[in-house]
Amino acid sequence: MKIDVLTIFKNMFDTVMGESIMGRAIDRNIVAVNYTDIRDFSNDKHKRVDDYPFGGGPGMVMKPEPIYNALSSLDYKNARVIYMSPKGKVFNQNLARELSKEEHIIFICGHYEGIDNRIIDNYVDDEISIGDYVLTGGELAAMVVMDSIIRLLPGVLGNEDSFKDESHYEGLLEHPQYTRPRVFNDISVPEVLLSGNHKKIEEWKRYQSLMLTYLRRKDLLENIKLSKDDKKILEDIKKVVEK
Ligand code: SAM
Repeated sequence: MKIDVLTIFKNMFDTVMGESIMGRAIDRNIVAVNYTDIRDFSNDKHKRVDDYPFGGGPGMVMKPEPIYNALSSLDYKNARVIYMSPKGKVFNQNLARELSKEEHIIFICGHYEGIDNRIIDNYVDDEISIGDYVLTGGELAAMVVMDSIIRLLPGVLGNEDSFKDESHYEGLLEHPQYTRPRVFNDISVPEVLLSGNHKKIEEWKRYQSLMLTYLRRKDLLENIKLSKDDKKILEDIKKVVEK
């Protein structure tokens, strides 16, 4: 996969994309990430990339030409062009999975009041939001999306199964996790996890996963197909919770 990022703050990506699993995925050429400074494509002698909004109003708007010129320096017609925006479709794991299958993604990071809408209307394939709140710029949002996509690429996580039972992979929240020591500050881990009985452990994990999802995110349960067994567990959970 190839990812290009159009930004006026390239350095913001250094630590996040240079460390840990993201850094290793790049070092191992599983993904190539390139940054393009939109300012380099400004025709203005002061390298300005923003101007006052037509029609008035507070703040500044990012001008279309530098963004278009930056885009044109890349093979954007064969890429999925994404503008990070609080007005976009709210990002989730399904979208992460869909994007992880793309060969080339270009992220445009806005600033100030955002970017000239002619870029969005004519050159952007998707507007994506990372949640119903407003950030100063699109860089943090792009990094969130990049992280969640890159970790799904084959070979990035040591064990492919590690994301398969994670929260949201199949629509549920993940069961609680514990590690050594068995007893910490007089608090023991759930006995079943030490039992060595794999069937019982799997049942416990499924029950916890359904319970957490029922308690915290009932909305998720409406969008997934539950097995007969899951439905039965859920009925039991409802009885326990409603008691
Ligand atoms: N005036 C815009 C509005 O009200 O919709 C907000 C602009 S915001 C201050 C500046 C930039 O941050 C946006 O152009 C966008 O790239 C990015 N941004 C802010 N919030 C975001 C979010 N929730 N998801 C994705 N990008 C966001």
